[in-house]
Amino acid sequence: MKLNSYSKVTGVIRCETGLRIGGSKDSLEIGTSDNPIIRHPISGLPYIPGSSLKGKMRSLLEVKAGTFSQRGGACDCGKYDECEICRLFGCGSPQKAKEMTRLIFRDAMVTKVAEEILRDAQAEKGVNFAEVKNENWIDRTTGKAGNGGIRNQERVPEGTTFDFEISVRVFDCDNKEQFKNKLVEGLKLMECDYLGSSGSRGYGQIKFLDLKFDNQPFTL
Ligand SMILES: [Zn+2]
Repeated sequence: MKLNSYSKVTGVIRCETGLRIGGSKDSLEIGTSDNPIIRHPISGLPYIPGSSLKGKMRSLLEVKAGTFSQRGGACDCGKYDECEICRLFGCGSPQKAKEMTRLIFRDAMVTKVAEEILRDAQAEKGVNFAEVKNENWIDRTTGKAGNGGIRNQERVPEGTTFDFEISVRVFDCDNKEQFKNKLVEGLKLMECDYLGSSGSRGYGQIKFLDLKFDNQPFTL
C-alpha cells in the first residue's frame, strides 16, 4: 500500500442559525455566560474543531448506512475493503485498525470577513465574539418559568463564516472519485442536520459555500 497523493476539500461554513460548540469554563471571564463556546485561547475568536466536523459527518454517514451504534461507538468492523467509513474515518477499535485514516479534518477558523464583523461588534457593543442566549424552561402545569429555569448559553452568531479544509490521503488502492462522492454525501447530510449542540431547538444549522475538490468547484 503506497500513498499516491493528497486531495483537498475546501470551502466556507456559514452559520444559518446560532452555533454552539461548548468550551471550557476555565477561560471564563467575568460577566460572560455560564456555558461558554470554544474559543481560540489567544485571539478569543470562536472556531470549529476538526473533531466536531469529523464526528458529525461520520455519525450521520453511519446513521444513513444503518451501521450507527446506539451505544455511541463508531463503526469498528475494520473491514476496509467493504466499509468505506472505516477506510475514510478510521476503524473505531484501535486493536482492529490496520490502515491509515484517510480523512484529516482541520480546525475551521473564522474567515477574515467574519473576524472583522465580530471585532467591530466587540468594539461597538462589547459583544465578546458571541451572542449570549437566555433560555428558560416552562413548567407545564403553572405555565411559568420553572425553578432555576433560566440558563444562558453562548452561541456563535448567525451569519458567521469559517474556512474549512479536509485533507484526503489517497493510496494506490483507493478510488478518489468514490471518496469525493462519500464526502459530498456527508456534507449534504450535515446541511440537513446540524452542528454542535441543541440542534433540535434551532441551533447549528449550517451551509457550505464555495466548495472545491482539488481546486475544482462543486456544489451539493
Ligand atoms: Zn466499518
